[in-house]
Amino acid sequence: MTTTRFAPSPTGRLHVGNIRTALHNWMLARQAGGTFILRIDDTDAERSREEYVEAIRADLTWLGLGWDREERQSARLDRYEAAFEALRAAGRIYPCYESAQELDVKRKIQLSRGLPPIYDRAALTMTDEARAAKEAEGIQPHWRFLLDHDEPIRWEDGIRGTQKFDPAQLSDPVVRRADGSWLYMMPSAVDDIDMCVTQVLRGEDHVSNTAVQIQIFTALHAAGFAAADGAAKTLPAFAHEALLVGREGKLSKRLGSLACDALQERGIEPEAIIALLARLGTSQPVEPIVDRAQLIAGFDLATFGRAPAKFDEDDLERINAGIVHQLPYEAVAPRLPKGMDAAGWHVVRPNLAHVAEAAEWWRLVTGPIGQREFADDDRAFLAEAARMLAWGEEPWAALTAALKETTGRKGRALFLPLRQALTGMDHGPDMSELLPLIGETEARARLTRAAD
Ligand code: GLU
Repeated sequence: MTTTRFAPSPTGRLHVGNIRTALHNWMLARQAGGTFILRIDDTDAERSREEYVEAIRADLTWLGLGWDREERQSARLDRYEAAFEALRAAGRIYPCYESAQELDVKRKIQLSRGLPPIYDRAALTMTDEARAAKEAEGIQPHWRFLLDHDEPIRWEDGIRGTQKFDPAQLSDPVVRRADGSWLYMMPSAVDDIDMCVTQVLRGEDHVSNTAVQIQIFTALHAAGFAAADGAAKTLPAFAHEALLVGREGKLSKRLGSLACDALQERGIEPEAIIALLARLGTSQPVEPIVDRAQLIAGFDLATFGRAPAKFDEDDLERINAGIVHQLPYEAVAPRLPKGMDAAGWHVVRPNLAHVAEAAEWWRLVTGPIGQREFADDDRAFLAEAARMLAWGEEPWAALTAALKETTGRKGRALFLPLRQALTGMDHGPDMSELLPLIGETEARARLTRAAD
């Protein structure tokens, strides 16, 4: 049974970067008929906000990425305590007393000697007396996970292929702060075990976290922690996606404008975001595909490239227009101008880049339209058109055929003045569909006014 999770920290709105992670995890789960978990990573009480938890739910709902189960790290602190105790009893967690400043000095010295800034494990060799002295000074320890340096850490990454890390090149990660609060590293592994997550798919900024977390998983299993009822006994499969980049490099500076709410305000359809992000960075073509089943069926980690995926807002606009041209009336009805029916939507739809523009085009039907000054010969032609206008099955075809016959005009000279007189514009919706919506009386009035 496939189980995936999307684990946002509620410290801001979702943006294209994390929407992409959410989407791909959702697609993996839906493709396999599995479970998609929304896990709120809110152990950082200072930065987490309830309003963002609600915004994340609202954004995912708007995007149509429904989740089967919701979990919150802040409700699971007893599990982290149990895991911590199990690892501590197994000798895999140790107390450290260095201040942030001391650690900083150590790092600077290492770097100045050309060495990697890896924690030197000084706390491991502290005597009981030295520890007691620190505590007598009122210094509480923070806690590190002891990496096992014996074996390289390996995994078969679903996107990056075989990954190999030398654990000696990594610092023992701090898993718990001196005030007792949790850092990301251990709770995430505990959750993945408890929630039987089978596939962890996330950005490549997490690759080195995966190396550490594989050791945490293994240590928890060895400590008997994973023997708890319903806990996964095996490691999840890991895959790390190349990050998104903008046209000018990093996306991070522009993430505000690429947040879900900003995109929604700009008139971007959820289906456009989904269609673009489903395939961006893969070998499959990005197309305005409305049918999610099609996107899900074709989703395959093997098609993902290792190069950063270019996110281009022009692509998003292009896909959005392509999606709008396909949206059925029912999907947009509440957002359309008053009085606009399915026929009206059908007529204006091909001209829209955003649904909201329907109002501008609908004014061509309801009026008033802008009128221009026509040259004498065009005025005579339009007066003839007003006389010949007859209302039947296909009024536009009938009108243009009759005018061609009587005036000898054809092509642009025939069609353009009619369009201009009837809509006030040089381009726009298909006239054969538009004219019936304008109606006979109004159409004749417009032609007569133009001929005046
Ligand atoms: N809260 C983490 C993040 O947003 C989750 C990472 C993970 O998927 O494990 O980066």
